[in-house]
Amino acid sequence: MTLTEELFEFARSRGADSVGVVSAEAYEAIVPNLQKPSTTAKGMKSLICFVKHMLTGSFATRDVSVQSLNSHVCMDRVERISMELAEWLEKKGYLGLPVPPEAADMSLQRSPAGTLDFKWVAEESGVGTVGLELNLLTPDYGPRVYIGVVMTDAELETTPKLEQHLCPGMKCGRCAVICPTQAIPLRARRDAHITEYRNLDKRACASGAERIGIKPLLLNLRKLIFTTPPPDPQRVLEHVYWKEFWQSINSKLGAFAACFECFYVCPPGAKDFRKIIRIPYRRMDIPPGKVGRRHFDDMVEMVYRGVPEERKSEYERDQDFGDVLQAGHNP
Ligand code: SF4
Ligand code: SF4
Repeated sequence: MTLTEELFEFARSRGADSVGVVSAEAYEAIVPNLQKPSTTAKGMKSLICFVKHMLTGSFATRDVSVQSLNSHVCMDRVERISMELAEWLEKKGYLGLPVPPEAADMSLQRSPAGTLDFKWVAEESGVGTVGLELNLLTPDYGPRVYIGVVMTDAELETTPKLEQHLCPGMKCGRCAVICPTQAIPLRARRDAHITEYRNLDKRACASGAERIGIKPLLLNLRKLIFTTPPPDPQRVLEHVYWKEFWQSINSKLGAFAACFECFYVCPPGAKDFRKIIRIPYRRMDIPPGKVGRRHFDDMVEMVYRGVPEERKSEYERDQDFGDVLQAGHNP
């Protein structure tokens, strides 16, 4: 068994669903920005990439806090596996360096970004392909995975990229028509390949996926400060929002991964998607026949339908104090 085969076997035994390797030098050469391997550490030879899937049962609840807890547990697992892979390599005499999956380096670019963009490492190492909404899609679990990357100075055998893209783009478009913040492209040239138009409006997505975070906090504060007549300060201070905010800081509940709409409806996933659409209200997220398209000239445009009516309020990020603002204040 080669070192790479042994490593892959170990990674799977620790819980990784699939594993790949891309050469650090080859990857460095194709990255157009500062998210290059050398930004994290110089002298590394290989990037090991793996994914861990979220529990499918977490999609059987409508409680977003429970679902996002599942995300955090999955992310913790990714960090643990990364540490174990690095230790395994170090016992063999190499360097092992887990790259933090969540930390953003504010000096890299204006919007927060990690020192490596894991989804592209995953695509280059054949673990999956990047879809219309810029999530990594994997053959077994679609986008419902978290990604880990470990760098090493060991020269490992590389794995080939997947031959076919898992996302058919506008021929599917399910994530785009349901995304509550319209962060996913709804139009493309009819003959364009998915790689030409896949994209995500990160700001818009953040306002959906961060129920409690710096952006929603600022939006709420702005509303509280500038609404006339001003709200009753006592009611503002006693509002449940602050308790939720505190809980979010402590447990991450709602801090990120508070929107799963594009995860629910994405068909790739040989091991989980059938189970997901067996869940009655998941089947009705996009009822049969509800994905519409308009064709004109050489363009195709998806017909936006948004999230189901009963979930819309979950994505109104400056409405948390709506009850207090409506009541007004008569000192
Ligand atoms: S996480 Fe939510 S807001 Fe972000 S792209 Fe997916 S559906 Fe849209
Ligand atoms: S829902 Fe469809 S269009 Fe969106 S990423 Fe998944 S496969 Fe691609």
